Amino acid sequence: MTGAAGVVAAGDAANWYNPLYERFMRVEHWTNAIEQGTYAARRPLGTHDPDGFASAPYFWSDQYGMLLQSVGSTAGYDEIEILVRDGEKLLVAYARHGRLICVAGLHAGTAVMSYRCLVSAQATMDTVRAKEHETAEAVRP
Ligand SMILES: Cc1cc2nc3c(=O)[nH]c(=O)nc-3n(C[C@H](O)[C@H](O)[C@H](O)COP(=O)(O)OP(=O)(O)OC[C@H]3O[C@@H](n4cnc5c(N)ncnc54)[C@H](O)[C@@H]3O)c2cc1C
Repeated sequence: MTGAAGVVAAGDAANWYNPLYERFMRVEHWTNAIEQGTYAARRPLGTHDPDGFASAPYFWSDQYGMLLQSVGSTAGYDEIEILVRDGEKLLVAYARHGRLICVAGLHAGTAVMSYRCLVSAQATMDTVRAKEHETAEAVRP
């Protein structure tokens, strides 16, 4: 979201530098349009984060009866770990250099979004495994 002075952009049309992933990105999803719109509106007011719009982008979509969700970006991943595979439910973590960069799910309910903080913190995979273990223990009958 830099360019002509005094002009801001958000949503599908905006190509911006995402400090979280240290690269330019363009994201065509609803949640990004809303969150980036908030950031863009704050910018002329001077109430924005001066470090930039750091985001682990989230989307969900219903496709052919499947709920797909993802938080973060898989670009550049070098490790995939299946966190949960239970019937139709699938939860997968993507990492780069041992750090979490994305979690994606099928029929995973609120589980995908529950990882957003860890994706935003680029947590270690050990932290990710510990969280999943805690969650599994909590729901064990
Ligand atoms: C078929 C389809 C399915 C999708 N499904 C999902 C999904 O499941 N999950 C998800 O996260 N995202 C989904 N998306 C993406 C999501 O809709 C977009 O990322 C989001 O709408 C982007 O918001 P925006 O405000 O950037 O753009 P838009 O929502 O496209 O808004 C742009 C607005 O600008 C208006 N406009 C254009 N030109 C002018 C002009 N010259 N003057 C004035 N107004 C103008 C347009 O009429 C429009 O209202 C889907 C998109 C499509 C097309």
